[in-house]
Amino acid sequence: MTVLPNLTQAEPIPAAAMAEVTRILETGDLFRYTSEQSPVALLEAEFAAKLGSTYALAVSSCSAALFLSLKALGLPRDARVLIPAFTFAAVPSSVVHADCVPVLCECGDNYRINIDDFAAKLPSVDAVIISHMRGHTSDMDAIMALCDAAGTPVIEDAAHSLGTTWHGRNIGTIGKIGCFSFQSYKMLNAGEGGIMVTDDAELVAKAIIMSGAYEHNWRKHPVLHTPFETWQNQLPLYNLRLNTLSAALIRPQLAALDQRVRDGRRNHDHVAGLLNGHPHLQVPAPLDAEVRAPDSIQFNMVNMTEAQVEAFQASTKVAGLNVQIFGRSADNARAFWNWNFLGETPDLPMTRAMLMIACDVRLPARLTLMECDAVAEVLIAAVTHATAKAAA
Ligand SMILES: *Cc1c(COP(=O)(O)O)cnc(C)c1O
Repeated sequence: MTVLPNLTQAEPIPAAAMAEVTRILETGDLFRYTSEQSPVALLEAEFAAKLGSTYALAVSSCSAALFLSLKALGLPRDARVLIPAFTFAAVPSSVVHADCVPVLCECGDNYRINIDDFAAKLPSVDAVIISHMRGHTSDMDAIMALCDAAGTPVIEDAAHSLGTTWHGRNIGTIGKIGCFSFQSYKMLNAGEGGIMVTDDAELVAKAIIMSGAYEHNWRKHPVLHTPFETWQNQLPLYNLRLNTLSAALIRPQLAALDQRVRDGRRNHDHVAGLLNGHPHLQVPAPLDAEVRAPDSIQFNMVNMTEAQVEAFQASTKVAGLNVQIFGRSADNARAFWNWNFLGETPDLPMTRAMLMIACDVRLPARLTLMECDAVAEVLIAAVTHATAKAAA
């Protein structure tokens, strides 16, 4: 039997973090605004430089970053925000949290936003959040052309896209604001945390104040200070700050990011090549402008009966491999019909059909190619078994 690697185990935090964590613990300096040179401020400067953005603001999660983005855009209560129907429940939740109304856009079987549905719904919305779900980049050329023409602001949810490029430009820097996550299952792991990037001084000033830079703590951000004078005491303080320990865990990982991205892509493309050799499995190709940074693989089951799908699921389970089919696992937070907090969701047949055939398997960057072979072997054996059985 194939010996599978552990797919859920995190990578160790670089040893370089330890000295800094010890220093912080010895000084008790956990609050970012105790000093101007706090690890949080240093992380913001390093992250902005890495991405090629003017400003960055580190916060408590990517969800908090999305919420603050909507608030910083000044959207009124009940403003409509277009989001992809294939995303994580945190995304519609951040829209609800900001007192806005999510409008769901169809996604195709390549996991990306369907541009026809996007164009049809755009005139009825006030802002757009593009979730590059599982790091699959939607067509940013088409989206930016439509949104620029309509004057509609774009927030990129790049939680799972750190390291992805589009025409050589970093994902998260194409829209007005980009939001990233430091939750444990993302490229940089602080357990929890998030960061937003933008080139807009006014937007970042508002987000900084609302993140909890009370009184004159905004002076500790190296940002144009004029907008702060305007917004001082005019905005609520939501206290969504990042603490210094979390920043100390992230900073040494940032140096390892490029290697992690290369290893993750190598692993993904290797397994994709193997799966695409089977007539019943299909890994959608990246878009031409896109260079991806995957830490998991998604593939579709094609031309399979319900019985074959069930047999495939059962086989992988017996082999000890955790394959999630987005639309078939109970309570999956990425299946829009489970977002009951929205009230009634519209019927989105294209996205629904994709969710019923799309499989999700973690593929961490730390795996060797031999370990990747073991994962692919289990998947191919399971689909071969499932399709042969039902055909007989
Ligand atoms: C993880 C994730 C989020 C939420 O990030 P948090 O930091 O946990 O709030 C949002 N969107 C996508 C696409 C994600 O993958």
